[in-house]
Amino acid sequence: MPNNEKTTPVVGRFAPTPSGRLHLGNLMCAMLSWLSAKASGGKVLLRIEDLDAARCPFMGENTKYLLDDLAWLGLTFDGEVLWQSRRAEIYDTYFEKLNQKGLIYPCYCSRAELHAATAPHRADGAPKYDRKCLYRLRSGDPPPVGKKPAYRVQVPSEVFSFTDRLQGAYCENLERDCSDFVVRRSDGVYAYQLAVVVDDALSGVSEIVRGNDLLDSTPRQMFLQRELGFSHPVYYHIPLLTDAKGRRLSKRDGDGCMERVREVYPDPAPVIGALAAALSLIPSPERITLTQLIPLFDWSKIPRDAVKLPDGF
Ligand code: GLU
Repeated sequence: MPNNEKTTPVVGRFAPTPSGRLHLGNLMCAMLSWLSAKASGGKVLLRIEDLDAARCPFMGENTKYLLDDLAWLGLTFDGEVLWQSRRAEIYDTYFEKLNQKGLIYPCYCSRAELHAATAPHRADGAPKYDRKCLYRLRSGDPPPVGKKPAYRVQVPSEVFSFTDRLQGAYCENLERDCSDFVVRRSDGVYAYQLAVVVDDALSGVSEIVRGNDLLDSTPRQMFLQRELGFSHPVYYHIPLLTDAKGRRLSKRDGDGCMERVREVYPDPAPVIGALAAALSLIPSPERITLTQLIPLFDWSKIPRDAVKLPDGF
């Protein structure tokens, strides 16, 4: 059944991190979140993930461009824009809930220790925490003096599995494959994993459309959802956008960067058409608006693997 025949209207969201100017891959994600929600008669929210003030200053230049690029494309969102940088007190409450459950512990390990060549690594090459600070705490040894800790959540040796609506079945044993992860950094900034779970739940988000690079974050987020008593949303992890030859768009060369796109295309209709054709929603690139795409939207047409921009775009 095509997904635009869903009976319950979804609450979707687009949650960009404004650490640079948007590129066409981000816009494709925004467009799919928007179309999926609108095709079900639902709503779509906008959340600015500006937790890290050093990388994303509040209402900085990148954020202004981001809002302008979304408006230019015709992406309108429901309700108020949510700013993660304004929500630390809300995250405090949920951090404390995890703490009350005995799941949080301080970690004093330095970046260098965590990234040492001898440190255990996950299958994807990222360092896997060896629980040094958990064992130290249990043994009653004092923590290092004068150092501010990050806080980690202790994960169970349990398999978290789910069916991504686009990528299919995915599972991870959190202890074996991931290990305890940071929920609050040593500078007090909350980590993405906690903020995203709290915000999606409090905003009533029922459907998450985002890049495939976040597929392996989902078991961690499902664990936090369970521990905080939230329900699990439905997930669609969308593929990467590549050039016509299947090569990753290069940020350094400014490929797909909105600055360049808008210089070449002052009008969004051919840009939307190119993305819609790359997503197989229309047979070939043509001028089209987002509203015209709503009745044509169907998840079963969307490719699972890399999405190629049309030649010469
Ligand atoms: N803020 C993340 C990003 O820009 C997306 C987070 C999410 O969709 O869960 O990549």
